Amino acid sequence: MRRGFKAWCERTAYDYRQALGVAPTEALDPHRLADHLGVRVATPEDIPTLSDTAKRQLIKVDPGSWSAVTIAQGKARLVILNSGQSIARQRSSLAHELAHLILNHTADEAQLSREGLLLRGSFDREQEDEADWLGGCLLVPRDGLLKAGRRTADEPTLATQFGVSTDMIVWRLRTTGVLRQLRWQPSQPRRGTLRNDRQMAAPKNH
Ligand SMILES: [Zn+2]
Repeated sequence: MRRGFKAWCERTAYDYRQALGVAPTEALDPHRLADHLGVRVATPEDIPTLSDTAKRQLIKVDPGSWSAVTIAQGKARLVILNSGQSIARQRSSLAHELAHLILNHTADEAQLSREGLLLRGSFDREQEDEADWLGGCLLVPRDGLLKAGRRTADEPTLATQFGVSTDMIVWRLRTTGVLRQLRWQPSQPRRGTLRNDRQMAAPKNH
């Protein structure tokens, strides 16, 4: 990642939280951020041009195959979220898509296939990593995580506090260095803790 990128992300996340009146230790609802950015958010059910077969495929048959897609038309942006996935996952996907937007990433155009299926435009690997990182900062800012982590060492409690999955909390704790800084006692039972750094990929968004 570019030099200074991570610090920039934390500052950017802080600024958006300030604009929305959300404290660093509180959950940021990415739908509110979408509103603030003038981005519409929908689910496949909201899209009349999508055939019933396509909807069933996307939501029921293969809900794991995609998380979100952003459609651009002129200056307008529409994010379509997979309503077949958990709320925590949908929030993470939305934050990720908004991060692409904030970062001015450009992707191949998403298209509708002849059957009405959405074909997702693709970003390159570096853009994906950047969007993962900024998305994580928006939902779980480093300062807020440090403060909250001084009050509780229970990852699921932190997940509820920030409105994200436990995997997201674990990932942020590890990759921001907050875990080291907190010096939680290893004897404290912590469900969901990943044990080694090879598992430290961002929680999946696509
Ligand atoms: Zn992406």
